[in-house]
Amino acid sequence: MTKCDQCNTPALWVVSDECGTEIPLCLSCYAKYSSIIQNDIENNEREINYLTSSIESISGIPQDYFPRYPSRPIPITISGIKMNNIHVSNSVIGTINTGSIGTIDQTISALIQLGEVSVATAVKELTEAIINSSNLTPNQKNKLVETISFVSTEAATPKENRKTAIGFDLLDNGLKIIKVADDLFDVYQKYWPILVSVFS
Ligand SMILES: [Zn+2]
Repeated sequence: MTKCDQCNTPALWVVSDECGTEIPLCLSCYAKYSSIIQNDIENNEREINYLTSSIESISGIPQDYFPRYPSRPIPITISGIKMNNIHVSNSVIGTINTGSIGTIDQTISALIQLGEVSVATAVKELTEAIINSSNLTPNQKNKLVETISFVSTEAATPKENRKTAIGFDLLDNGLKIIKVADDLFDVYQKYWPILVSVFS
């Protein structure tokens, strides 16, 4: 299997450099790469908006005559980790493993780009509901969030390389926890089978 150009992890994406050379990247290196590209696009939009304003002022055309790029929503930051997909307030995070939540958030972006939209939705909805649940202890929430972090990362890996046995074990244990939380009943009924389908 092709390895990432930046580290030793299996590669999932190929990007091209300025000379057109193809560079394989893994999930976390690709996440860094795409956030740099996103920043560049954002800076370009700001620059174009500024130039448009300048043209209007110099030429006497009324202000805001030309369309502008809308400003982008500010991502939520949890313990220094920028969240693009998962929306929960800092007050409910408590002692939950923010590293795992960050991994889940990055993986949701990756899954959407891979076209795995139903898995991405299941991962997002379950994670938000688990963090917000009032029927689970912090320890139970951590177990579930770490399970989802594992499953979502595996879902972004080619099927033949997925760690199926570990996946089923974790999901079996997770099921015992999530089943007893009354406020998670609907979300669990709807989305848990999608997690199971990652390994079947
Ligand atoms: Zn890498």
